[in-house]
Amino acid sequence: MVATREFDAIVLGAGPAGEVAAGRLSEGGLDVAVVERELIGGECSYYACMPSKALLRPGELLGEVRRVGGLVGGAIDPGAALARRDEVIHDLDDGSMLPWLEERGIALYRGAGRLAGERRVQVGDDELLARRAVIVATGTQAALPPLEGLAEAEPWTNREGTTAGEVPASLIVLGGGPVGCELAQAWRTLGADVDLVELADRVLASEEPFASAQVAAGLRERGVRVHTGAEPQRVERRGETAALVLADGEIEAEQILVAAGRRPRTEHLGLETVGLAPGGWIEVDDALRVPGREWLYAIGDVNHRALLTHAGKYQARIAADVILGKDVRATADLDGPPRVTFTDPEVAAVGLTLDAARERGIDARAVDVATSGNAGSSFYGRGAEGTSRLVIDEGRGVIVGATFVGFQTGELLHAATVAITAEVPLERLRHAIAPFPTRNEVWLYLLEEYGL
Ligand SMILES: Cc1cc2nc3c(=O)[nH]c(=O)nc-3n(C[C@H](O)[C@H](O)[C@H](O)COP(=O)(O)OP(=O)(O)OC[C@H]3O[C@@H](n4cnc5c(N)ncnc54)[C@H](O)[C@@H]3O)c2cc1C
Repeated sequence: MVATREFDAIVLGAGPAGEVAAGRLSEGGLDVAVVERELIGGECSYYACMPSKALLRPGELLGEVRRVGGLVGGAIDPGAALARRDEVIHDLDDGSMLPWLEERGIALYRGAGRLAGERRVQVGDDELLARRAVIVATGTQAALPPLEGLAEAEPWTNREGTTAGEVPASLIVLGGGPVGCELAQAWRTLGADVDLVELADRVLASEEPFASAQVAAGLRERGVRVHTGAEPQRVERRGETAALVLADGEIEAEQILVAAGRRPRTEHLGLETVGLAPGGWIEVDDALRVPGREWLYAIGDVNHRALLTHAGKYQARIAADVILGKDVRATADLDGPPRVTFTDPEVAAVGLTLDAARERGIDARAVDVATSGNAGSSFYGRGAEGTSRLVIDEGRGVIVGATFVGFQTGELLHAATVAITAEVPLERLRHAIAPFPTRNEVWLYLLEEYGL
């Protein structure tokens, strides 16, 4: 007979969300088990956020060297860049994560876990019982659009698109969201001939239109052919190449990379044993709890609230605190959480776009300035342009959205996140002095543009 082991909490999936929840629960004094079927650190550490940024970094740095002037030479060695990427993803080995779990006394079960009724989890032959809570943090995987011939052509997903050991001669990137734009830029910079294909009439369709235009221009400047409003009909594998047939022509390349959305990893999770439909997103309330099941939580990508690592980590903290008996709720991950597309120019945004604010009936006004229109930016060289925008709720006198396009604007974003989260009145914000000569002075010019 198989013995059932009891824990206070069981976390399914050790991506960023699962890890943070497990750590916080164990630091809160609970006896915690984590179940992981692949690598501790999840998609983010090995096949998503970390490798994509490692692939982008050499090109970004080279661009800066060229812009700033006064530095001699500079070229990318693709082999060395891929080797550095491998270092960043620890050669797909999660051994360095084990001490972190051990130090916290978190029990690790390697294998695919599935729910086996209320509070019960099965991992291979092991049966686990949760006294307080089960947290599902199993994340997402790439969704393949239903395009004839696509699956047969064995396209790259984010997995191959971030870990490939060689630069393909040519690449078609299907999808012009943040992942598609970042990977198109990365592989182009490393030497591939790249076509980026987007169905909508602009890349980064949920961001401000000027952000889409400036990123598309940046990609085109690098030699990426950006096709927007494209109508893919089918894919044909032709020996060593694959062809994407569009309504008005075709593109052929060595490889196709699909970056067209995500689907939840909930198919083989035993959700049916607790009365939930398998395969879908797991709906939760603001305590990250599945309605009607006070012991079951879902955090990170799998609940579809915001498919971003930092949003998952935020939810993990909230869920853990709720399980530890605190009266907290998630309030900041649904409405425009902070987000960065790490292209050059970079797009850093938080809160609502102007259109989204107006659609909600907010009396919104936008103020725009050049991101590089301040002394601090001069040190970043010529050509590090972009637009910065604040979206202001005129009725309440507060900021409800901010977008900064330009070089490494992600590092400028947090001030906007604080202002929006704390609902700082603009009349008060004018007293937040930005140091000279830093790029933070963009705030000074934005508020001046508003009339303060
Ligand atoms: C190319 C790319 C770049 C990205 N860049 C960024 C970025 O720069 N910043 C950002 O914020 N977000 C980025 N994202 C999004 C980010 O990767 C996800 O939001 C994040 O990984 C979600 O974390 P998670 O913990 O919910 O799930 P995941 O990271 O997917 O982890 C889930 C874990 O659960 C495990 N698992 C699944 N099923 C089971 C099971 N049945 N039993 C046991 N274990 C299981 C998986 O093996 C995995 O380790 C990017 C995504 C992609 C694709």
